[in-house]
Amino acid sequence: MGITIFEDSYRHKGLRRKLIEELRRKGIRDERVLNAFDKVPRHLFMDSSFVEFAYQDKAFPIAAGQTISQPYTVAFMTELLNIKPLDKVFEVGTGSGYQTAILSELGAKVYTIERQKDLFQSCQHLLKMLGYNPLYFFGDGYLGKPSYAPYDKIIVTAGAPEIPKDLIAQLAIGGRMVIPIGTSDLQVMTTLDRISPTQVDIHEHGNFVFVPMLKGTNNR
Ligand code: SAH
Repeated sequence: MGITIFEDSYRHKGLRRKLIEELRRKGIRDERVLNAFDKVPRHLFMDSSFVEFAYQDKAFPIAAGQTISQPYTVAFMTELLNIKPLDKVFEVGTGSGYQTAILSELGAKVYTIERQKDLFQSCQHLLKMLGYNPLYFFGDGYLGKPSYAPYDKIIVTAGAPEIPKDLIAQLAIGGRMVIPIGTSDLQVMTTLDRISPTQVDIHEHGNFVFVPMLKGTNNR
């Protein structure tokens, strides 16, 4: 009897419970968000050699020099997004697909874009197996995906030097974007609420560190 990579054991479930308690201690309050963390088996989104670390509150390397974001960061951003069932959510930076799964678990219809070809491809089988059906795009998230706009929510999971104009244009009136803005070393978690065609309310929510949001695509 071997251990399959899709195994979700009682031990994994127990570790998830502990992680959720840690997120609670660190200030995550939204029970729907915490419940989504209970449902999604994070260890399946990581390289198998890191399974032991999957339920620590840390970012970890995935393919193509990218990272699966720290659970606290994913929870914090998801809480800021205030997802309602059937919200149309545009996600920049599919990466491992973990954030995609959390958003889907909350009932969002997720449109996710990734600029690294191998990550774009590699997450799809797992998400499908777990019962999540986002729309996947390979491309540059700076441009958004106008053909499906407007979006109720937009989440950018890479650090952007500035607010991408095309993304603001694709945000619904009444919609919210969550995006880390700053230099390559440090970004400020920023929310933008589009309250009218011409007016956006901007708020800052503390410092975070992400891999950079890059232009263009990488086909390798
Ligand atoms: N949500 C992912 C985060 C991965 S790290 C997870 O938790 O696994 C950020 C991701 O953003 C990387 O996969 C990176 O390739 C991607 N990215 C960076 N710039 C991008 C852009 N302009 N368009 C689409 N994806 C981008």
